[in-house]
Amino acid sequence: MISVEQALEKVLSYVGVLEAEPSPILDCLGQVLAEDVYSTIDIPPLDNTAMDGYAVRAKDTKGASKLSPQVLRIIDTVSAGTISEYEVEPGTAIRIMTGAPIPKGADSIVRFEDTDEVQRKGAVDKIGILREVKPGLDIRRAGEDVSRGSLVLSKEVVIRPSEIGVLASLGRSTVKVIRRPVVAILATGNELMDINQPLPRGKIYNSNSYSVAALVLRYGGIPKMLGIALDSESSLVASLRQGLDTDMLITSGGVSMGDYDVVKDVLAKEGEITFWQVRMKPGKPLAFGKIRGIPHLGLPGNPVGSMITFELFARPAILKMMGKKNLAKPVIEAVIEEPIVNSDGRRIFARTIVEKRGSQYFARLTGPQGSGILTSMSLANGLVIVPEDKAGVKAGDVVQVMMLDWTEEAEVV
Ligand code: AMP
Ligand code: MG
Repeated sequence: MISVEQALEKVLSYVGVLEAEPSPILDCLGQVLAEDVYSTIDIPPLDNTAMDGYAVRAKDTKGASKLSPQVLRIIDTVSAGTISEYEVEPGTAIRIMTGAPIPKGADSIVRFEDTDEVQRKGAVDKIGILREVKPGLDIRRAGEDVSRGSLVLSKEVVIRPSEIGVLASLGRSTVKVIRRPVVAILATGNELMDINQPLPRGKIYNSNSYSVAALVLRYGGIPKMLGIALDSESSLVASLRQGLDTDMLITSGGVSMGDYDVVKDVLAKEGEITFWQVRMKPGKPLAFGKIRGIPHLGLPGNPVGSMITFELFARPAILKMMGKKNLAKPVIEAVIEEPIVNSDGRRIFARTIVEKRGSQYFARLTGPQGSGILTSMSLANGLVIVPEDKAGVKAGDVVQVMMLDWTEEAEVV
């Protein structure tokens, strides 16, 4: 048996960063930028007003107050997106809306609330300024966000909603990113039925393909569903062939010691098998190798084991292919509220419900921990890690918990 770390190292050594391709910006959420993005424009493009009000010459407001307003003549109104043709001459003002470019001659903005506009009730040819303003007040300068020619986003940045917004502000509709890996998913087992079929006695629905496909999607890959293969070499080989145009193959089931566990035999014949037992619980039977050059991960059939081994091995492989650097799932410290016994020297990943009380996290088990009890994964938001060299943990111990719904990017690096 090999350790979780050794297994992960092996898996990661079999995958590399994929190629870059141009993609519409909205499709790039969570992908890694593959080009340095420079701006060809200033943002904002022109000096403009941060407030609704009047564009004036600051000098013309000298001495203005509520008791002695400075009265200016209104020569125009401008809104965002239009440029006034007029120039603010001494004694005049231009009515202006947020975002509109500052007219020629003006050097500051007087907000509506610092004028007597309300009292004038629609008499729009003159305005009383009630406050002295300094030059530059409430003016957003051209290029204050982004200046033309500057580097705005660097290669290797993970694209979040903010980056998509920034790209849009630059007028970029597409950008180069590391492409998403296509991951073929095949369930194996004579007992499995498709979810859109009636369930004959003795059969079960194929849930692994769906939990695994959802995990592939969650981490940014593109699942390719290959359906269900029977526990025979011929059926398995025929199904696996459909996945040979992908970046990674994931099968579930057929890797333990039973009579019908043919995945490892097929792997040994058709490709190369690297290991098939990891010192962890659940998930001990795990196969890894290559078929016709494509990395293949053979997850255990048990629904919980397949999800947890996916998190530990397939997820980092997908992230690496996508060009990500931070492959570690966030781990926090929590106080465990009940004991966990570790009787066979494997690393236990126990399904837990983590809660924050005050400034401290607390974890309790979801209930029975059988690796076939998939609803326990649905109850859990974390996995308590009990090290392989520990006989267990007692209530009140501080333990490490891998947080299932926290993203890698949430970690501050
Ligand atoms: P195996 O690793 O093939 O021996 O399967 C271990 C257990 O997981 C068995 O009880 C299987 O019925 C179950 N199992 C295998 N594949 C799936 C699947 N795709 N969906 C749900 N359960 C499965
Ligand atoms: Mg099976």
